[in-house]
Amino acid sequence: MLTKKRPLPWSVLSLLSRRAAHLARQQYDVIVVGGGHAGTEAAAAAARVGAETLLVTQKIQTIGALSCNPSLGGVGKGQLVKEVDALDGLCGRAGDWAGIHFTILNRKKGPAVWGPRAQLDRQRYREFIQSELLSTPRLTVLEGSVEELLVTEPNPEEPGHHRVTGIRLANRSQPITASSVVLTTGTFLSGALFMGQTMSPGGRFGDAPSSAGLSHTLRERLGLRTGRLRTGTPPRIVKDSVDLCQAELHLPDTHPTPFSFLNKHTRCKPEEQLPCHLTTTTPGVERVVKESLHLNCHIQQDTKGPRYCPSIESRVLRFPGRSHQVWLEPEGLTSDLLYPQGLSMTMPPDMQLRLIREIPALRRAEIHTPGYGVQYDFVCPTQLSPALQVKNTQGLFLAGQINGTTGYEEAAAQGLWAGVNAAHWALSLPPVALSRTESYIGVLIDDLVCRGVTEPYRMFTSRAEFRTSLRPDNADLRLTLKGSEEVGCVSSLRYREAVRVRDSLQDALAALHALTLSTNKWRNKLPGLQMSENKNTLVTAGELLQYNHVSFEMLASVFPESLSPYAEFSQRLKIEAVYKPYCDMQKKEIERIQREENMSLPQDLDYFSLPVSLSQEVREILDRVRPSTLGSATRLQGITPAAVVNLLRYVHATN
Ligand code: FAD
Repeated sequence: MLTKKRPLPWSVLSLLSRRAAHLARQQYDVIVVGGGHAGTEAAAAAARVGAETLLVTQKIQTIGALSCNPSLGGVGKGQLVKEVDALDGLCGRAGDWAGIHFTILNRKKGPAVWGPRAQLDRQRYREFIQSELLSTPRLTVLEGSVEELLVTEPNPEEPGHHRVTGIRLANRSQPITASSVVLTTGTFLSGALFMGQTMSPGGRFGDAPSSAGLSHTLRERLGLRTGRLRTGTPPRIVKDSVDLCQAELHLPDTHPTPFSFLNKHTRCKPEEQLPCHLTTTTPGVERVVKESLHLNCHIQQDTKGPRYCPSIESRVLRFPGRSHQVWLEPEGLTSDLLYPQGLSMTMPPDMQLRLIREIPALRRAEIHTPGYGVQYDFVCPTQLSPALQVKNTQGLFLAGQINGTTGYEEAAAQGLWAGVNAAHWALSLPPVALSRTESYIGVLIDDLVCRGVTEPYRMFTSRAEFRTSLRPDNADLRLTLKGSEEVGCVSSLRYREAVRVRDSLQDALAALHALTLSTNKWRNKLPGLQMSENKNTLVTAGELLQYNHVSFEMLASVFPESLSPYAEFSQRLKIEAVYKPYCDMQKKEIERIQREENMSLPQDLDYFSLPVSLSQEVREILDRVRPSTLGSATRLQGITPAAVVNLLRYVHATN
């Protein structure tokens, strides 16, 4: 089953969007600015919660565009995609529709850190997202550029607090009002594009930057601290000009694993998937980088770029004398282009051509579009609450690259959560939070709002303390029920499926633990089972399943009547059994953190006059970040264990 009707053709989409523009009202519950990965999830989530929502974006045709790499997921990022899907977001299903090469990364390690990933067909991805948005009830999509954010002056009863009231578009004099606005302008805020020695204003190749009015409101009127970051993209290469025989062939998984819990299959059949190829740089590449340094403005700037997705210039300069991996990835089923992952560069186009031709597989390669860099403003995310609302501006939410993150998955995850909370705000529902004990989305948001960013933030499994519990396989059990019962962003179809899965898994585990085996009697019936001792003992099937060499299928062959009804969950049951002892061990630590998360710190607390022993430095940090709970305070950089104990005493005395 692939739960997606065919996306609507472009002619129908453009008709729908023109009709939407015509029907656009003057007043909405939620306005989302930007149709990138954060904005699309935000708009869809707000509408699912029940808010009348408007998505305004510069070009409807670029909604769902993959600005850089044509891929989704990976280690840590795949977990985010599964969680967005568990909350009924779009990107997982879009990945299943558009994927053309599926792999589970990290398969040699435990399933908790497996990284579901897919190479995507750019066009199919965009079509899916556009079609989904244009047919979402309560959601209007409008093409336009937001020039100004409308905010009230600070409320005299709440000094320093503003309230958002709407937006003004470049081509309309009338404002559009809303209770909440979600800003997801990506790399477009004061965006500047770099190639060689040229610099031009832009948010992405072919797209203008966000208007200066938006930056002005954020910085000057709301007093938000901003910073500057950079990123870049490689040249796109003409496929026919590449000698793929000179690169190493990498095949996808034989059986593609869908991202979405609603899908049993991906759109692309196993045999239709395309391969990737791996090659490496040569000393010639390093030579060209060094020769072109004086012609490369972007690399000379001291803004921070993505450490884990660096340009070829940064890689060569940081690790001279080494060869670096370059993946040659397909851009689509019928695309004539290849995406050379690892060759992001900003030197002049003629030098880019010289550089790629230093790689044997690319000796005769032609460049279709040169690589370029982008520098942009971000808003320091410690100024946001865990609901991603700007602390000093009621109803204003930020999500995606504007918060200093990098990557589609990080943007999608924040977008969904900001959209949900913007809808809650507009509909006078309480804000909702996700803890780092229950999700990677919680880890991402907690890291951003407590620690802030000094370089583009991306997700890794190592950021999640409880990764053995936060696995890709169980994101539905962790989030779908909460998403339906507490948050209201999950369809009844998905909710029913999650309840069915939860109940079946519980029944299956009960059955496994009720079935006992005498090891002597069953030893021969479980081929491959090698008990270390020859003693006869009684064990439950559930205990046996924890052993590496015992599979659910082996047990089901012994107890077909009791276990075969659960065959569809064989892999999930095996993973549950293997991780049970670890998860049991973590339970106490999770409960401690959850207790601390429940101890709230008032947002108007005067940390400088708090009658507890805290250093001036700690008071300044607490005053600047204003953590919402004791748990968040403990994770702030610069907060000492002694300060936490003293704060705890204060919270106990006042809570
Ligand atoms: P975006 O996807 O950028 O979407 C922003 C949207 O807002 C756009 O649709 C834009 O039209 C719209 N918009 C902006 N201003 C306005 C306005 N005033 N009014 C209306 N609409 C507006 N990620 C990586 O992980 N690794 C990389 O190496 C990498 N390299 C990149 C290289 C380049 C050149 C670019 C441009 C991006 C790169 N990315 C990379 C980043 C990746 O594209 C983003 O992380 C991701 O797209 C962020 O999603 P977003 O929704 O925050 O913003």
